[in-house]
Order: sequence, then C-alpha cells, then structure tokens
Amino acid sequence: MKFKGNVALITGASRGIGAEIAYSLSLKGITILINYSKSEESAVEIAQRIRREGGNCDIVKFDVSNYDEVESAVKDIANKYKKIDYLVNNAGVTKDNLILRMTKDEISEVLDINLKGAINCCKHVSRYMVKNKFGVIVNISSVVGLMGNAGQVNYAASKAGLIGLTKSLARELGSRNIRVNAVAPGYIETEMTEKLNVLQRKALMSNLVIKRLGKPEDVANVVEFLLSEEASYITGEVINISGGLYI
Ligand code: NAP
Repeated sequence: MKFKGNVALITGASRGIGAEIAYSLSLKGITILINYSKSEESAVEIAQRIRREGGNCDIVKFDVSNYDEVESAVKDIANKYKKIDYLVNNAGVTKDNLILRMTKDEISEVLDINLKGAINCCKHVSRYMVKNKFGVIVNISSVVGLMGNAGQVNYAASKAGLIGLTKSLARELGSRNIRVNAVAPGYIETEMTEKLNVLQRKALMSNLVIKRLGKPEDVANVVEFLLSEEASYITGEVINISGGLYI
C-alpha cells in the first residue's frame, strides 16, 4: 500500500480506536494530525509514540461539534501542509439511558459530537480535497447504527446518521476523485467499553460468532485498507467489524 507523503486528519485520536489508527497509519509514512478536545496528556503520549518510531505528526485541538473551531483548525492545517488527503471521523461519545430517562443534554451532546461533528469535518476538509482532486474519508459508525440497541437511541441514531452521510457524500464527491466509506465496529476494547460488567461481557460473548472482543487494531486494519489505493473502487460502503455480532 502506497501512502508515503500523504496527510491524514484523525478526529478523536488521543485515545482508543483513533489513537491506534493514528499510530498504525504513521508507520506507513502518513503524516498524522492528531485531533483531541480534552485529553491533552493522551494526545501528547500518542504523538511521542509516533515520533519515537520515526513518524511525523502534529496535535490539533478542536471540538468537532463546534463548526467555527473546525473551520479554523482545518484552514490552519491546509495552510501548513498544503493538502489533507485523508479524513477519519472517529471522535465519538456515549451517554446511554433509556429514552424515558434520557436528558436533553444526553440527546444533544451525542448527536452534536458523533453526527454533526463528522458533518462539520467533512464540510471543511472536503473543500481542500476537491481543490487537490483527491481525498478519502472514513467515518467510524457502529453496528448499533445498523441493528439498534436498547438504552442507546441517541448513539444509535447518530451512528445510523453517519451511514446516511457516508452514502450521500460518496455520491456527491465521487466525480471529484473523493471516496467516502464507513466502518461499523462491534464491541472493541477501549475506555468506551470498559464500563461493561462481567455479566454484560458474558451476555455479549454468547452473541459473538468470533469469541473475543475486538481490538482497536481490528478497526485500524480495515481503515488502512479503505484509505489505500487497493480500495480505489470502493465507495459509499459500510464494513461491519463486529466478530459476527451483527450479520
Ligand atoms: P474513546 O476511547 O472514548 O475515545 C474517544 C475519542 O474521541 C477520544 O480521543 C476523545 O478525545 C475524542 N472526542 C470525544 N469528544 C470529542 C470532541 N467533541 N471533539 C474531538 N474529539 C472528541 O472511544 P473509542 O472506543 O476509541 O471510540 C472511537 C470511535 O469508535 C467512536 O466514534 C465510537 O462511537 C466508535 N465505536 C466504538 C466502539 C467500541 O466498542 N469501542 C464500537 C463501535 C464504534 P478527548 O477526550 O480529547 O475529547
């Protein structure tokens, strides 16, 4: 896979899946823009890890849900690097609750970060991709966006929305040599899923075809493929990475 010299913006790359995507892409010679909104220490740690291995990266702080912050950060990146080849919309949060108990803030925070955040980034980054006549976008959705999950209406709606975004943008930007795809991970071992107790883990295992939780590397490998030239005829797709949780 030929990536050397390309530039990737990865949102929410300070921890978990985003950090793993950042690290693995940096090993391929891609310059990584590590975005975070709060976890500065973790963002610095992943940047140090990348640099120790000889990779190139920069840290860019912005809140994906803030339209103006995204616009100005993306402008700065494009001015410095002259292009943004890849965008991985990974930043995401959960605020789980049953709908009867779900608060106004739990609804808006999840939709604003997970869905509007990705739209904000696509909106501002695609301008530079169109200019450069090249780009690949990968949105990190979830199997929950395909199958639903009680207690997660806000999260499932945001992740299903990302699939609509992916398919529409793929149609809109295909003629400009820009591909847009999504991945739908199942349960991946990160801070987001650390909250599961032993009983919940056991119940989950019984529904998995491959009897282990996913690792961030399982997602990073597929993202790397979707960004590569080897995937140049794939756009508007959603790839399920769930160990058979949803088939
Ligand atoms: P995580 O460990 O909680 O990490 C979330 C990342 O998102 C952090 O880097 C966080 O950085 C960033 N973030 C949160 N709000 C942000 C904002 N407003 N602006 C910019 N960055 C923000 O989560 P994860 O498990 O790696 O999940 C990553 C993505 O995969 C999410 O979209 C999630 O929905 C999706 N996913 C995860 C699983 C799973 O099982 N783990 C399954 C399916 C899909 P800060 O702390 O700096 O804000």
